[in-house]
Amino acid sequence: MHKSEERTLNRKAECCCGQLSVEVYGEPYLHSICHCSDCKKRTGSAFGISSYFKKDAVIAQSGKTDQYSFYHKEKNHEQIRHFCSSCGTTLYWYVSSFPDLVGIAGGCFIEDSLGEPTYSISHGGKLPWVRISEDIETNA
Ligand SMILES: [Zn+2]
Ligand SMILES: [Zn+2]
Repeated sequence: MHKSEERTLNRKAECCCGQLSVEVYGEPYLHSICHCSDCKKRTGSAFGISSYFKKDAVIAQSGKTDQYSFYHKEKNHEQIRHFCSSCGTTLYWYVSSFPDLVGIAGGCFIEDSLGEPTYSISHGGKLPWVRISEDIETNA
């Protein structure tokens, strides 16, 4: 990234009803889209946008969540997912293999959206009509 494009923006991700939010500083540590069947179910969409930030980049967090833990067979890790107690949006999660990171649902950053993802994960599960840039690194 060119120096002039560097951003040190705070961004806020919010659930559908707005009672739950998380605010982070700076750019994601890992910014990816994921085509696994689980991300499709979690989002009800063609792929999930999984944006991982260092836990210490979280500058504010508010609202009430419920949570469930989920063992990700394909990736052999456990996730604890937090979703809005009112509207059900999964807003953020913790992954056992990334103890310093928090995953945030990238599509929930509305006012200052994140840039283009750098990884396409579980790329083999990509729906045939989804076209992504060739600049994006893929992983089976
Ligand atoms: Zn909500
Ligand atoms: Zn996934």
